[in-house]
Amino acid sequence: MGIETAISESRLWTLLMELARYGATPNGGVNRQALSSAELGARRYMIAWAKERNFGVTTDGIGNIFVRRNGTDNSLAPVLTGSHLDSQPTGGKFDGSYGVAASMEILAALDELGISTRRPIEVVSWTNEEGCRFFPACIGSGVFAGAFSLDSVLPLMDPDGIKLGDALAATMKGMDLDAAVRPASKPHCYIEAHIEQGPLLELANIPIGVVTGFQGGCRIKVEVTGQEGHSGTTPRRTRKDALFSAVEIISALKQVAQDQDDILRFTVGRFEVFPGSPNTVPGRVVFVIDMRHPDNTVLRSKADEVQQVAMASAGSCSVDVMEMSYRPPSGFQPAVIDAIRQSAAALGVTHLEMTSGAGHDAVQLDKICPTGMIFIPCWRGLSHNEAESITPEASAIGARVLARTVVVLADR
Ligand SMILES: [Zn+2]
Repeated sequence: MGIETAISESRLWTLLMELARYGATPNGGVNRQALSSAELGARRYMIAWAKERNFGVTTDGIGNIFVRRNGTDNSLAPVLTGSHLDSQPTGGKFDGSYGVAASMEILAALDELGISTRRPIEVVSWTNEEGCRFFPACIGSGVFAGAFSLDSVLPLMDPDGIKLGDALAATMKGMDLDAAVRPASKPHCYIEAHIEQGPLLELANIPIGVVTGFQGGCRIKVEVTGQEGHSGTTPRRTRKDALFSAVEIISALKQVAQDQDDILRFTVGRFEVFPGSPNTVPGRVVFVIDMRHPDNTVLRSKADEVQQVAMASAGSCSVDVMEMSYRPPSGFQPAVIDAIRQSAAALGVTHLEMTSGAGHDAVQLDKICPTGMIFIPCWRGLSHNEAESITPEASAIGARVLARTVVVLADR
């Protein structure tokens, strides 16, 4: 009997709702930021779940959690599947959690049918995928894949001045996995199931997205410096109002970002005014631009334009533009994508091929092993929003395609 027959919609849904209790917000979302006590609750739930079922549980230096079901040949590299349990401050119940829960459901279904796979299967939850508490995003998967060293991320600070290293130490203590360290070895491949976080699958009424690659993205910090002054006495002609200049710069950049086919994604999601007093002319503004595009030439040229546009629109203030990160677009290798396509076809499930608009841990894993992603539709494409929602049926269809893919790859 195929593994997909044992995937239980109700068991998976219960798991999702259990995880959603950690950091639950009054508006139906979750606030489970990386290495917080709420996130630790979800981690401990996952660890207890695994121990109850006699799966091996290990961690690594950055606190990623690995739940392992042995294969018949445990000298072989494991098939890795999972996602993340951290969330945005006003996040939804399914971003990240879905991929972790669907992967856990696969282990439960394998046990139920008594299926042995040739390779071990490991379910992973990556640390700090979101990048909102500690920047950059995908730190856990990045350290795992060798994109960052552990030492380089430990001193990173959250907006309250708490060091990642200290928050990590507290989480490690709470997870109580000290003696269980995952041996550093490359996985055979990595598969991540995730909600789409966009509207395309729902609009097309198609249950599965096969992700072929990622659009590129960059973050650019702009700092506008003027001069503080008394709001009641400083005349317009002598003001150097950093806020007014920042507004001009953003308006000009908005024009630059206006592409006819609506492919470029341009966001200013962080904007800070200093000193932030109602009766002081703002002397300094810092904002961060997040820009994404699937074509590297376009992305690079738009990112380069920011400097010039900011200088031209700064008026009486000075402006400093700093590129914080740049990730070119990339495509997945065919091995995992093909397996996902074939699994969907074998189950009679239609799919849409798409590039991912969001960044994911899979971007990091793609650097060290064949990688692929499965998307499922989410309500109105909403994500990073407490109203984020999926249906139990959609969650089960995604888990069935994931399960079949994982088992096929684990038997290779
Ligand atoms: Zn996510």
